[in-house]
Amino acid sequence: MFEAAQNRKPRCPTVNAITVHRYCRFTLINVLMGALMLGVYAANAATDVTSVRVWPAQDYTRVTIEATAPIAHELLLLKNPERLVLDLQNVSLTPALQELAAKIGANDPYVKAVRVGRFKPGVVRLVFDLKTEAKPEVFMLKPIAEYGNRLVLDVYPAQAVDPLLALLERSTPATTQIAAPAPPPLPASPPIDFKPVESSIVNANLEPPRKTPRAAKSDNQRLVIVAIDAGHGGEDPGARGHSGSHEKDVTLAIARKLKNMLDREPNMRGVLTRDGDYFIPLHHRVEKARKVYADLFVSVHADAFVKPHARGSSVFALSERGATSSAAKWLAKKENDADLIGGVNLDVRDPYLKMTLADLSFTAQINDSLKLARAVLTELGEINTLHKSDVEQAGFAVLKAPDIPSILVETAFISNPDEERKLKSSAYQEQMAEAIVAGIRRYFAQNPPLARARVARNP
Ligand SMILES: [Zn+2]
Repeated sequence: MFEAAQNRKPRCPTVNAITVHRYCRFTLINVLMGALMLGVYAANAATDVTSVRVWPAQDYTRVTIEATAPIAHELLLLKNPERLVLDLQNVSLTPALQELAAKIGANDPYVKAVRVGRFKPGVVRLVFDLKTEAKPEVFMLKPIAEYGNRLVLDVYPAQAVDPLLALLERSTPATTQIAAPAPPPLPASPPIDFKPVESSIVNANLEPPRKTPRAAKSDNQRLVIVAIDAGHGGEDPGARGHSGSHEKDVTLAIARKLKNMLDREPNMRGVLTRDGDYFIPLHHRVEKARKVYADLFVSVHADAFVKPHARGSSVFALSERGATSSAAKWLAKKENDADLIGGVNLDVRDPYLKMTLADLSFTAQINDSLKLARAVLTELGEINTLHKSDVEQAGFAVLKAPDIPSILVETAFISNPDEERKLKSSAYQEQMAEAIVAGIRRYFAQNPPLARARVARNP
């Protein structure tokens, strides 16, 4: 049933540079980790797997194996057909672990099936049959929040989905018309670190500019892209309401409504950073927005506080130094903890993590973000109590795109039973999305979009 040793991937020095890096990392780190952990845990009884979860998504499929202790493991990548073999050392073959096979859905984009069996004494082997060539990552997470020790296997496609191409493929003929000639930069608009180019990047990828540049004014507007970021997802549920609703579900519902509304605007398109229940590291959300050349970034959340009477909407922007209040600082820390709870692979470089605000001028981004935040806050005030009457600022990791005005909207308090009920209602979600769209329109009425610029957006 299981593969012979000679079928395994070649050893590090004999394979090409990219594979060397990846393969060495997996084997060396995993073998080292295995050796260390075995040393520590050999004397202990076998580790019990308490639960397994599978999070399939277009971006990647994540398999989480939660256990009573860290799991020493080894990962092998096999070809023809594409398979992943994950050996778990000193692990009991519990019913919880055997359930994994039944948790792989037919619609999983990357994993076809998984076989679970005892390979040899003390080793449980998981063989994942893949639907496509994969780039796996495997890592352990320490216990945090409600979770115990988690072994995470992320199955990324070898060819990552390009969000810009996906956006263009989804674009309707109407989009291509609107994406026609970009207007010249408007002197009234504040510069946002854009270097002007002759035509829109979106336009350049869609079709040649129309031959009649002197079209009606509405035709002359370029397409504005709004990145909509549904907070949390997957392993990271976000805040919880008293009746059991999860922030990650409410934020996704509002984000989808917001996208549909923006797509109905003649010159706007919404792009979701996630369109499903899965975890995305905060810096990946920023990267996705930058890859589609987003004009704005709106992160949608639902607040929570220990006291159930806390209520109201608030809007946040990035802060250049410190936070505007201790509550804003506390909230930014809580939102930034999403990476730890959701499970970020610390081996993967976060280009925004070490980027200090002094490295790049965030002044223009923050100025524009504050204008957008005020416009959205004004509209939210029409449909809900405001938790704070003015925009607040703190070091939210998800607002760190240096060239995209970015806001984080705490729609309402999911910890407040009354607001939780509203947040779960489709009609209220619709109202919330409408208010955000109205805020975006209000912002652009005062700050018309600049001619599309091609910015050096290398990470
Ligand atoms: Zn949140």
